[in-house]
Amino acid sequence: MNIILLGPPGAGKGTQASFLVEERGMVQLSTGDMLRAAKDSGSEMGKVVADVMAHGGLVTDEIVIGLIREQLETVKANGFIFDGFPRTLAQADALNGLLTEQGENLDAVIELEVDDNVLVERIVGRAADAAAAGQPVRADDNAESMKVRLMEYYKKTSPLLGYYYAKGQLSRVDGLGSMEQVKADIAAVLNG
Ligand code: ADP
Repeated sequence: MNIILLGPPGAGKGTQASFLVEERGMVQLSTGDMLRAAKDSGSEMGKVVADVMAHGGLVTDEIVIGLIREQLETVKANGFIFDGFPRTLAQADALNGLLTEQGENLDAVIELEVDDNVLVERIVGRAADAAAAGQPVRADDNAESMKVRLMEYYKKTSPLLGYYYAKGQLSRVDGLGSMEQVKADIAAVLNG
């Protein structure tokens, strides 16, 4: 089973993806994690994306599609969770093509719905918690970049909701519930 977790930054996609990895043995493909790894490695691509990411903008479709292509071609999995990808219609089209090439299907797209005010609080809180615990704070977890990330989400990513709805693949889950509640709601969708 291959699924997309869709929702604005701070909606809890990464948290829920990690539950699915633990419990269902699925493989999480987070383009955000891949890009951060590229940045930390100091590779040429990492240098190109660092600045865009720190400001909250979207990295080019070409780069992220390339990252996903590489994973789909090399990793064998009992289901993929796409987390933070696709973020544009071009990425969604590319994903369709890549899955088809691999003889795979897209089984569900789950939208985590969260109120915008809560998102900003969550992201700024996440940075404060990390700092208090002496852990590294993501370069883009601040109020300024958060505004750009939300704007990018509404301009470029939210059209995917209509796209997947029209294809009959969209399910909505209330992302404001407790982690356990959200997890249960996602399970209900997947167990259909
Ligand atoms: P969040 O969902 O909290 O914004 P992510 O870890 O998914 O965090 O993404 C962090 C940043 O990485 C994004 O703000 C963007 O700059 C870049 N990024 C991640 N995935 C994509 C993608 N699919 N397309 C373009 N840029 C991406």
